[in-house]
Amino acid sequence: MNLLLFSLFREKKRRRVVELTEKMVVDGGNGHTCEWEGRWNHIKNTEVSLQFMLETCKILVIGAGGLGCELLKDLALSGFRNIHVVDMDTIDVSNLNRQFLFRPKDVGRSKAEVAADFINSRIPGCCVVPYPFDSNVLCVKFHIIVCGLDSVVARRWMNGMLLSLLVYEDGVLDPGSIIPLIDGGTEGFKGNARVILPGMTACIDCTLELYPPQINFPMCTIASMPRLPEHCIEYVRMLLWPKETPFGDGVALDGDDPEQIQWVYQRSLERAAEFNITGVTYRLTQGVVKRIIPAVASTNAVIAAACATEVFKIASSAYIPLNNYMVFNDVDGLYTYTFEAERKENCSACSQVPLDLRFAPSSKLQEVLDYLTESASLQMKSPAITATVEGKNKTLYLQSVASIEQRTRPNLSKTLKELGLTDGQELAVADVTTPQTMLFRLCFTS
Ligand SMILES: [Zn+2]
Repeated sequence: MNLLLFSLFREKKRRRVVELTEKMVVDGGNGHTCEWEGRWNHIKNTEVSLQFMLETCKILVIGAGGLGCELLKDLALSGFRNIHVVDMDTIDVSNLNRQFLFRPKDVGRSKAEVAADFINSRIPGCCVVPYPFDSNVLCVKFHIIVCGLDSVVARRWMNGMLLSLLVYEDGVLDPGSIIPLIDGGTEGFKGNARVILPGMTACIDCTLELYPPQINFPMCTIASMPRLPEHCIEYVRMLLWPKETPFGDGVALDGDDPEQIQWVYQRSLERAAEFNITGVTYRLTQGVVKRIIPAVASTNAVIAAACATEVFKIASSAYIPLNNYMVFNDVDGLYTYTFEAERKENCSACSQVPLDLRFAPSSKLQEVLDYLTESASLQMKSPAITATVEGKNKTLYLQSVASIEQRTRPNLSKTLKELGLTDGQELAVADVTTPQTMLFRLCFTS
């Protein structure tokens, strides 16, 4: 292409862009409607789904934080008008660098309410309904649920809730009872987006092993063979702090107290110097003490965009959704891949098969409790165990109510046999990781 032709072509293209942009600004930004000619051309041939998308489709967004702000913006700009958002958190000044629906004047207010107000005032025709107080939202009212949470427990709870809504007729799943769950998660420079069709594809608990419990450094490394700056900080935090009690006896280390962090920082520097380790900084010290994983705004943007695209694909039925787990990582370079997470045959949440607990009759209840919390596939937080013993419903152990905990604590050191439990006995376990009580079958091993 010669130069003149090239510049003409460029000019023509530029004008077209300007025209389009002006049109969008006029129609989408200032007018009463967000419509412009040709906006829906690509999905118009499926008239029913377009109407469904614009008029009927009700979406629940869980979380109005880093991912949630992005999700709400993306969904609203994609044309969804009926969006509900749950978040019980209030806005903190530290949120403002990435949670862009919030302003300094909003600090202290409910995230869900401020986010909803912002979207509603900015995007004509869109109605975001906030739920700032109680997560007691009836999931059954929604067509699609999108999770932008930072807690695995809350995610598992939502997963369990959607599984509890499934209807089986003669063991066959009624597809009408499935509410798709689009789940986004980010941690620093890493993120994932996944599509879950409860009862059909891998659920959160099927892949629980992918969320390992928080890794702590081995004590021997911290105490005698530090290699990383983090090891030195952990040494000061775990060993020196309780020993030297620099701020008084029994004073717990407060990650928000600059004087205390300064003390830990200085001591960590000394420790690092001893082992020729570099890299201890005040910032890192605070990060390790407070267990901070830095939030990266661009990771939220990438993952939310992927999630919103999946919502669009499912709602419009115009494209095939992600199958089913996308991983994004730009810690070192940038890469992403997608794989099909598989359902776990004996998933404690979605398999509908009561799991076996194999213990000897001489095992103590404490061992059962440890298994429930430590097993990689269960990872319960504070399981409450009940069983029917001699025709009576008996609470064997319950942690969440102090008086009951005290009353049932002696059971932990009793053997299963002493507690009157028998082979094949059903144990009911309740935990914060699921809204449903889980049934286990006790199988005695010899
Ligand atoms: Zn599952």
